[in-house]
Amino acid sequence: MELNPKILENIRKVEPYVPGEQPQNRVIKLNTNENPYPPAPGVVEAVRNMDVDRFRLYPDPTASSLVNALSEYYGVGEDQVFVGVGSDDVLSMCFLTFFNSDKPVLFPDITYSFYKVWAELYRIPYVCPEVDEGFRIRREDYYRENGGIIFPNPNAPTAIYEELDFVEDIVSRNQDVIVIVDEAYIDFAGRSALELLDKYKNLLVVQTFSKARSMAGMRIGYAIGAPELIKYLNDVKYSFNSYTMNQPSLVYGVEAVKDKAYFEETVGRIIETREWAKKELKELGFVFPDAKANFIFATHPEYDAKELFEALKKENIYVRYWGSRRIEQYLRITIGTREEMEELFSFLKRYK
Ligand code: PMP
Repeated sequence: MELNPKILENIRKVEPYVPGEQPQNRVIKLNTNENPYPPAPGVVEAVRNMDVDRFRLYPDPTASSLVNALSEYYGVGEDQVFVGVGSDDVLSMCFLTFFNSDKPVLFPDITYSFYKVWAELYRIPYVCPEVDEGFRIRREDYYRENGGIIFPNPNAPTAIYEELDFVEDIVSRNQDVIVIVDEAYIDFAGRSALELLDKYKNLLVVQTFSKARSMAGMRIGYAIGAPELIKYLNDVKYSFNSYTMNQPSLVYGVEAVKDKAYFEETVGRIIETREWAKKELKELGFVFPDAKANFIFATHPEYDAKELFEALKKENIYVRYWGSRRIEQYLRITIGTREEMEELFSFLKRYK
C-alpha cells in the first residue's frame, strides 16, 4: 500500500537549507562566517588535557557547568539559561516550544533561511514582511496580530544592526507572544537585547559560540530569558533528549567563557579588519548596507555576482552566493584575517 501523501506533506514543502561549502583543503574561507582566530588558549589547553576516560560516561544532561559559567558571565540566574547543540538546535527547539498558535509567526523575508525550514517542518503558519529597499526591517510590520516573532540582530545576511530602542519597540508591543532575538553576531555590533530581559518576560535572546567565540565546530548555542520560558525549553529537551551537549563541548565551552580578555581582543581585531575592508570595498565600487557583523553583504553595479563568486572560487577564495529573490546580485563576504582579506582585495583589484 502507498504511503498516504498527507503524511509527508510538510516535509515535501520544505526547501532545505543549503549550507555554505566546507572544502577540506586549505582555502581562503570567507563563506560561513567563522572566526579566523583560534579558540581561547584555555580551550586549546583543555583539548590537550581532555580526560578521555570521561567519554565512557554520559554527559551531564543539565549541562550545569556551562549553564553556571554563562549565568555568571551575563549576570543572570542559572534558571534563565538554556544550552543546546549550536544555536540552530536551540532555535529549532524554540520554534517547537513557543510557536504553536494558529496565528502566523513573523520573520523578515530576507533573513536567516532556516526559520522558514522550521516553520514548514513543524507546520507553523508564518508571514514574512518584506524588508525595505535598503534591506532594513520595517518595525511597523511587526505591530500586527501574530503567533510569535523572530529576527536576527544584526540581521543575516545583510549585517544590518538595529539599535535597542527598535528591538524594545517590537518586544513591548507584542507582550502576549514570545519574541526571539537571534543574536548570533551581536558581539560585532552593539548593545544586546539581554539588557531588556528585566523588563520583558516575553523576550528570549539566543546566542552562539560559533562566531565571536570561534567554536563553530564544537556546536554550542544558548538561550537566555525568563525562568518560565527556560523551564519550557528544558521540558521539551528532557522529553526528547536529542539535544544533550556532549562532554568535550561542555568542558571547552566553560573554558571559552572564562577568557574575556582574549574574546575582546579577537572580536576587536575582526571589527578593525571589517572597518578597513569596508573602505577597500567602497574604493573598488562595491555597494553594501553598513555592516555590523563579521561579514559584509555587498554588490557591485558592474559585476555579475555569480560570475564573481565563480571567479573567486577558482582562486580558492570562497564567499557566499545564493542567487535568490531580491539578493541575486549580492555576495556575503566573511571577515577573515587581515592577510586573507588582502588576498581577496588583490584579486578584486585585478578583476575585470
Ligand atoms: N542564527 C543565525 C542568524 C546564523 O547566521 C547562524 C549561523 N549560520 C545561526 C543562527 C546558527 O549558528 P550555530 O548553529 O552555529 O550556533
